[in-house]
Amino acid sequence: MNKQQNILIIGAGLCGSLLALRLGQRGYNVTLMEMRPDLRKVDISVGRSINLALSDRGIKAMQLVGLEEKVKPLCIPMNGRMLHDLEGNTVLAPYSGREHEYINSISRGLLNGLLLDEAEKHDNVVIHFNKKCESVDFESTTALFTDTETNKPFVEDADIIIATDGAGSAMRNSYYLGKKFLFSFSQDWLSHGYKELCFLPNENGDYKTYTNALHIWGREAFMLIALPNLDGSFTVTLFLSFDEGEYNFNNLTTKERVLEFFSKYFKDALELMPNLVDDFFENPTSPLGTVKCSPWHYKGNTLLMGDAAHAIVPFYGQGMNASFEDVTEFDKILDQGHPDWETVFKAYEKSRKKDTDAIADLAIDNFHEMKGHVNHANFREKRTLEMAFEKNFPNEYSSKYSLVTFNEDVSYRDAMLRGRAQDKAILNMLSDGDITTVNNLTNDQLRNTLDKVKTATEAILEDDRIAGLK
Ligand code: FAD
Repeated sequence: MNKQQNILIIGAGLCGSLLALRLGQRGYNVTLMEMRPDLRKVDISVGRSINLALSDRGIKAMQLVGLEEKVKPLCIPMNGRMLHDLEGNTVLAPYSGREHEYINSISRGLLNGLLLDEAEKHDNVVIHFNKKCESVDFESTTALFTDTETNKPFVEDADIIIATDGAGSAMRNSYYLGKKFLFSFSQDWLSHGYKELCFLPNENGDYKTYTNALHIWGREAFMLIALPNLDGSFTVTLFLSFDEGEYNFNNLTTKERVLEFFSKYFKDALELMPNLVDDFFENPTSPLGTVKCSPWHYKGNTLLMGDAAHAIVPFYGQGMNASFEDVTEFDKILDQGHPDWETVFKAYEKSRKKDTDAIADLAIDNFHEMKGHVNHANFREKRTLEMAFEKNFPNEYSSKYSLVTFNEDVSYRDAMLRGRAQDKAILNMLSDGDITTVNNLTNDQLRNTLDKVKTATEAILEDDRIAGLK
């Protein structure tokens, strides 16, 4: 395809800036339009997650654009979940039995800034800030923008337009409102929203609690999590219902009530947050939802990517990783040498949509796992067994979490099907007493247990195949 063509990308967030960089590397003429000011010059973090968990699928995309070494210094490894109970007791539950498998806490702003810096190094990539897309005419491949500094509207013409403008995508809205083709769209809100809080560093600038973990205070109906930042602070996120339960966002309206809630459920976290009340009332409460839609493209003119095509709830730590993987997968399709954009877009959506649907569903599952199941005895027994399998037979077993997070060459859909089958097999056999946990198991017994789990898993997968699920 002709590289002299002009590609307009709307939204210079994580996906858009990576895509601009990759298409720039491939030699295309790219214009990237972002509605906000340049985040490298102005602090615009308020109301968005300040740090994120970057894992292997995201790192694979960084390798594709040659940025792995530049991203590493921005990362803080998190080896497992640090579970905090009501009394403040903690236990570290590793993410994997293989030591080299961990996730990384990374600053959204620093990562986005790095991608913009690298994209801008290419003469064929031009980035404009303060340009808000209002709508897209997908038949004429033009987009209407407002310059947010002058308030003046203008129209931008392109050969193709790719919208990476996030969960509230303006182009997706144009697809929906245009009613020019059969466009399916669903948006499912969670009953829970989120609010960001903070553990500041101590007087020496050090971390106030253990650094290399994702801290979780799971309380069944709600939870608090904390991820470390490079400056010694933690970003703390409260996930809570808007209007259900004794304590919810709608009724936490006074300082006394917020303190009562935290001292009852998150006592040890409260001790690290003298700033709690100010943060609680200054920081916004935001909703969480899942967006699915199809098709993602209109003929060979326009395409949705990243959250604009498939926003998910954040509980698997995979939204950004999936959006980065979009770019890796799109790049693979470009390598196939299709004759025109319509064929490229079709091939991309065909191979990708089943996987983004799968991670959307897995992310909802993990919401329940993180806030409640992690504290249940049968769940912990399953994890103990899985850790032992991964440690003792590293080439033979990967848990669902490992398949999703550390096996970037296994598709999300395959990870979901196999992971769910394994979970079912282990939990059923544990409750029937067919297998037991590792504490007293010899290596031979553990081997025997793994063989049983494998056989039961294959039987479940076979049932799924017969039922047409695979
Ligand atoms: P965005 O990052 O939303 O970028 C969209 C860009 O488009 C923005 O720069 C925006 O300003 C711009 N824009 C929007 N509208 C317009 C317009 N009309 N015109 C021009 N520009 C526009 N993912 C993980 O992988 N790991 C995590 O740990 C994780 N934690 C999360 C925690 C929370 C609380 C939340 C809410 C999300 C989390 N995610 C996580 C998900 C992740 O943030 C998103 O999946 C990711 O940001 C998607 O990237 P994107 O570029 O598609 O969209």
